[in-house]
Amino acid sequence: MSNKRIAIMGYGKIAKDQHVPAITKTDRAELVAIVSSRGDSPDGIPVFSSLLELAESDIAVDAVALCTPPKGRADIAREAMSRGWHVLLEKPPGATILEVEQLSGYAVSTGHTLFATWHAQYNAAVDKAAAFLADQEISSFAINWRENVRKWHPGQTWLWQAGGFGVFDPGINALSIATKIIPVDFHVDQASLLVAENHQAPIAANISFSGTFAKNASAEFDFRTTGDEIWTIEVKTKTHLLRLEQGGSLLKIDGETVLEQHADEEYSMIYARFVELMQNGQSDVDLAPLKLTADAFMIGERHNVAPFAG
Ligand code: NAP
Repeated sequence: MSNKRIAIMGYGKIAKDQHVPAITKTDRAELVAIVSSRGDSPDGIPVFSSLLELAESDIAVDAVALCTPPKGRADIAREAMSRGWHVLLEKPPGATILEVEQLSGYAVSTGHTLFATWHAQYNAAVDKAAAFLADQEISSFAINWRENVRKWHPGQTWLWQAGGFGVFDPGINALSIATKIIPVDFHVDQASLLVAENHQAPIAANISFSGTFAKNASAEFDFRTTGDEIWTIEVKTKTHLLRLEQGGSLLKIDGETVLEQHADEEYSMIYARFVELMQNGQSDVDLAPLKLTADAFMIGERHNVAPFAG
């Protein structure tokens, strides 16, 4: 079977750190081009300034991985599909729910694979947590997601703009894990969004959830941490305490380490899945984490906090 020829659009941090090495490592996948407004690309890989320029070149492409910021990505995805290419979307898949739903419909009607990725879900520890919790009676859960924005998102001004998600850019990773492992329905009950006076998108957020379990489920997201990042989800069941640490790569049950997998494998698993989806003519678009985020923005109280340079 021939390789799937993949182009990456948006050659920024995640494209360099994860997508390029993951495509290189994946069987039946091949990086054939970069689309970059700055004209940047890895050595030996041709670069184009737009999808149009790529389409007019003599390079054959099967799919495009979109690593641009979420706002505007749905329009780019639609253009890519109109040129006959399958599409992989970085998370969050778009800036609004409806645009991604409509994009999903467009993929079906044009016969393309659309893959909305949630990299934090691609961890063996997350799968094991989901399997463990599947038949447990959930009492509560607590998400604690704190990281230093200056360390993890240097110079990313888009993050602070409307549609940039602010602290929900990492926070949605936690929500993508929670929606995968919590086996019962839950929804946003209340939210507080802390927005720096010089930004549009929140720098911190506190959320409480209601669901078919005892009431105390919560998430705390904060970009202002200066120490080590904390990415944990703790789930109490009637008889056990499950804890995912390090962004979902380390699983502890009742204090004992059950599984640890290096997070660098997330993107290899994503590309293996993308190849499989394309071969089977399928799409995978899970909107649950985006819906929770949108609901927090919709009903959240907004509190202004001091200006933040970052
Ligand atoms: P980034 O470093 O800012 O890179 C984004 C790239 O997109 C830019 O380098 C630029 O590439 C292109 N671009 C197109 N329109 C842009 C605009 N209006 N503003 C800024 N850049 C624009 O961001 P990133 O961290 O790679 O994040 C991209 C996506 O990946 C986000 O959705 C994010 O949530 C997701 N993600 C990031 C991480 C992480 O650790 N950083 C982890 C997982 C997922 P060209 O100059 O080449 O056109």
